[in-house]
Amino acid sequence: MSRSKQRRWGAITAVALAATAGAVAVNTAGAEEVTSDADAAQAKVDNPYEGAQVYVNPIWAANAAAEPGGSAIANEPTGVWLDQISAIEGNDSPTTGSYGLADHLDEAVAQGADLIQVVIYNLPGRDCAALASNGELAADEIGRYKSEYIDEIVAIQADPAYADLRIVNVIEIDSLPNLITNVSPRETATEQCDTMKANGNYVDGVSYAVAELGALPNTYNYIDAGHHGWIGWGDDNPEYDNFRASAALFGSLIGQNGMTADHVTGFISNTANYSVLEEPYWEVDQNVGGQPLNQNPDLPWVDWNDYNNEKDFTEALRTELIANGFNSNIGMLIDTSRNGWGGDVRPTGPSSSTDPVTFVDESRIDQRIQKGNWCNQAGAGLGERPQASPEAWIDAYVWIKPPGESDGASEEIPNDEGKGFDEMCDPDYQGNPRNGNNPSGARDDMPISGHWSSEQFQELLENAYPPVN
Ligand code: BGC
Repeated sequence: MSRSKQRRWGAITAVALAATAGAVAVNTAGAEEVTSDADAAQAKVDNPYEGAQVYVNPIWAANAAAEPGGSAIANEPTGVWLDQISAIEGNDSPTTGSYGLADHLDEAVAQGADLIQVVIYNLPGRDCAALASNGELAADEIGRYKSEYIDEIVAIQADPAYADLRIVNVIEIDSLPNLITNVSPRETATEQCDTMKANGNYVDGVSYAVAELGALPNTYNYIDAGHHGWIGWGDDNPEYDNFRASAALFGSLIGQNGMTADHVTGFISNTANYSVLEEPYWEVDQNVGGQPLNQNPDLPWVDWNDYNNEKDFTEALRTELIANGFNSNIGMLIDTSRNGWGGDVRPTGPSSSTDPVTFVDESRIDQRIQKGNWCNQAGAGLGERPQASPEAWIDAYVWIKPPGESDGASEEIPNDEGKGFDEMCDPDYQGNPRNGNNPSGARDDMPISGHWSSEQFQELLENAYPPVN
């Protein structure tokens, strides 16, 4: 489909910085107001991860520590997923275990943590382009989302007992970019994504969540922004543009449900995905075999994408987001839980081939069959350990997807979590337009999404990059 795409130089143009003085002034004013009361919550800081001890989820830590070699990483902070309404109180499910949100917050205080990472993940019609993480709320249940889910979370996070914690909320994985890439008339459209675009409930739900959660004095919202292998294509022709349209869609949330730019600390990329931080041995616009790789119509791995890694992608996306109304001090997070791609097959230098396909295949770190593959990728490894401020524009590398937790079942497994079976998790599946009709690359024998897999955990540990000692 995209072979006919015309690459336009300057697709990512320099943009005028949005006026931001007002935003800073508001933050500063808020800070003064808050700190004038000795008992009040801390003022919002620019990067909440800076200098912060991050909460270790004891449920995940116990699973990790029970695996051979797992104690080496069991103390790493991972995301606390509120993946259904009952997870707020705690539901003893295999996914979230016995802890509810207040239990996690209490435990964070007990740990002496400065920051906790909560994943807000329960939109109506959730995961519209896939089935493995369909949720409990039907496409039209926006009322329940607001009152039974977001409002309840806000009430708990607002408890003064947690006023000294920086509460990071990662907002709604895999939602808004679907409204750009997986809707009609594109070949990649799904019925449910068309429905969610038409009924407006993703936009309504995300802006509501951001506004309500962001109004608390100690919360930090990061909105999910897909990854480079999903929205890395910028183009003047809307048919081929994902990048600018996604940033514009995010910007259009400002003003809805009372959401302002000040409610947004930043954006997160690669959540629960496998895209690499950087490709050290090749540039996406490098000339091989007589033409730049990203203008080669016969190179499916690149396929005209403007990026081949999350670092370059997030830096450019941040600029584009600021041009669309977000504050100039927003920061990015990158989920590095499973994007290490270490192990024996990891290249150690660039290929010497002059054939573009061979060159890229022999040089690339990302070992997937295709970048649209997202489910339980065989051969993956843990990525960079969580850390604050690795680059000027990146607030932190984080492990939001807890390593060892499945992306979806390899075959249909009945469950009461609303989760379907997605063929992208079946190792024998030969694909659909969303992964260029390629094999899924998924591991076999995997449980339903969120449930533990010892085999996957051990492979991630084995193939970690940087390696785990
Ligand atoms: C699942 C959630 C789970 C999360 C973290 C998602 O794919 O749908 O239930 O909590 O992954 O593992």
